[in-house]
Amino acid sequence: MSTKNVMVFLEQHKKKIANVSIELICEANRLAATLGGEVEAILIGNGIKEEMSIPAHYGCKKIFYAEDKRLSHFTSIPYAKIIADIIREQKPQIVLFGATTMGRDVAPRVASELKCGLTADCTELKIGDHTIKDKEFKNILLQIRPAFGGNIIATIVSPESFPSMATVRPGVMKLEEANTKLKAQIVPFTHKLKDSDFMTEILEVIDEAKAVNLQAAQIIVSAGMGASDTSALALVKDLAKTLGGEVGSSRPVVDSGVLIKDHQVGQTGVTVRPNLYIACGISGQIQHRAGMAESKRIIAINKDPEAPIFSIAHYGIVGDVNDVIPKMIKAFKAKA
Ligand SMILES: Cc1cc2nc3c(=O)[nH]c(=O)nc-3n(C[C@H](O)[C@H](O)[C@H](O)COP(=O)(O)OP(=O)(O)OC[C@H]3O[C@@H](n4cnc5c(N)ncnc54)[C@H](O)[C@@H]3O)c2cc1C
Repeated sequence: MSTKNVMVFLEQHKKKIANVSIELICEANRLAATLGGEVEAILIGNGIKEEMSIPAHYGCKKIFYAEDKRLSHFTSIPYAKIIADIIREQKPQIVLFGATTMGRDVAPRVASELKCGLTADCTELKIGDHTIKDKEFKNILLQIRPAFGGNIIATIVSPESFPSMATVRPGVMKLEEANTKLKAQIVPFTHKLKDSDFMTEILEVIDEAKAVNLQAAQIIVSAGMGASDTSALALVKDLAKTLGGEVGSSRPVVDSGVLIKDHQVGQTGVTVRPNLYIACGISGQIQHRAGMAESKRIIAINKDPEAPIFSIAHYGIVGDVNDVIPKMIKAFKAKA
């Protein structure tokens, strides 16, 4: 029998907790409030106690901390064993991981060890009831994500095995305000790993800087296929520069080799929530909208008045990007 608690695996890189883990703490709060449980977390590493105030400020009540010099950097097998052992001991109802390189590596190993369900890349999580063959399951995790190439939005449940585990991509869940008065209980966890469990040793970590960091950008000007030729793309870049923003894109623009993958917004790109998102010549298919629909303000420029992007745009401009963008740049420069 599980508790009603929701647990988050806190991903750390070079002693800094990843933003996605804090977003998941915020989501865990919403789920735990419905279940009547608490938010707990797992942190694995070495010498990172100071970082633990961050999840606490977002509502995490208890952090199980496994500390060891050999755990400073992520290695699959030791991390998976520790996470599985903590879950076995604490019996949370739900466990959340970031859908990152680390989360995608460790979560399936933990699910396989615990023989429980795992749904990857959820875009929404809810607590609800579900009936299978006259058997009713109450207050279970409803894991919602696009399926079959984004043609349907599926709700996935795993009611007969515990915990229910899900991964969520960075930027998908909303970050709430921090409350610096909140504190968490730190529970040291003594792992039972043997030397033979440490099959790999990390000698050096080399960070490769990303060409663009869309998730940190407050203004994004995105090019779709309607703005992907050389002159229109130059206008998109110019508008982004004028506004102090980053250049995003739809997937076909990346597939055609015009921009690199780091620019791609959407289901198979990055998920963004900037203050302003300007979609230039983007039709607004569901796979693109999945990555930007939560932007605070959306301006769409498209010459087709029926383009689906207009259904989520706060301001829609029906026109050719080659005419509209220069006017926007001129107007902004005149005001600046
Ligand atoms: C599994 C899967 C995952 C996917 N993941 C993603 C993803 O992560 N991100 C993503 O973006 N897509 C993704 N896609 C692709 C998606 O389905 C769409 O094909 C894609 O978003 C369309 O890109 P677009 O709007 O740039 O191009 P189009 O659909 O070709 O639209 C171009 C638009 O530009 C307009 N236009 C043309 N010329 C002009 C002009 N001169 N001025 C103004 N408007 C003009 C047109 O009216 C049209 O609306 C995915 C698809 C699948 C199956």
